Amino acid sequence: MPTNIVELTGVAKEYGAGVAALRGVDLTIEAGELAAIVGPSGSGKSTLLHLIGTLDRPSRGTVRVAGHEVAALGDRELSALRARHIGFVFQHFHLAAGVSALDNVADGLLYSGSRPGERRERAREALARVGLDHRTAHRPHELSGGERQRVAVARAVVGDPDLLLADEPTGNLDSAAGAEVLALLRELNRAGTTVAIITHDPDVAAGAPRRVRVLDGRIVADERADERAEVTR
Ligand code: ADP
Repeated sequence: MPTNIVELTGVAKEYGAGVAALRGVDLTIEAGELAAIVGPSGSGKSTLLHLIGTLDRPSRGTVRVAGHEVAALGDRELSALRARHIGFVFQHFHLAAGVSALDNVADGLLYSGSRPGERRERAREALARVGLDHRTAHRPHELSGGERQRVAVARAVVGDPDLLLADEPTGNLDSAAGAEVLALLRELNRAGTTVAIITHDPDVAAGAPRRVRVLDGRIVADERADERAEVTR
């Protein structure tokens, strides 16, 4: 695995005529990092997440994820790249209603080629990692918000992705549940997963060792806990 999981060079994104969501972004995320991408609403964070997650393509510039240049891949290859290398966690959990926690997590392996029995076994292990081994049969409506988000995290990591992308993962949670989810993301990071958290919340960002600040489609600061502002434009 390359040491840079994410490499964005000169990335710009425009929506239609005149809406410049990103205006020339250079960003590298190395294996093992925990980075918060922080900025106010409208600053370009979601656009950045979509590009890093290979869900969208830039108008200009290059995006490399896990050593693959996105522009060189077709849609099916990108789906395979995502299935193999990237786990997603969203603000609104995106769990299938009426489906047990175990099967929601096992579905994270649908495109892995593994058999149903193995998928469920690995789902059980992933639920244990997030502290929900006693909730495997519960369906989303029988779980608290924090538990739902932990199921979503289990689904995101069940395939052992190189990169976990979390989009406002605490945005729908009370502060106690939010803190638990953040602690879980930090724990997964310590165990080796590279994590990027997109957030508008400075308190969430403050807990990350690296904070990439986005404003008006540009990175305006990139700070690490052990240094003062590394780059401030
Ligand atoms: P954030 O996630 O920080 O709130 P976004 O990336 O969603 O920021 O948006 C950045 C800018 O791009 C905003 O001005 C937003 O209105 C615009 N934008 C985002 N998505 C679209 C879209 N699909 N079509 C047109 N404009 C968009």
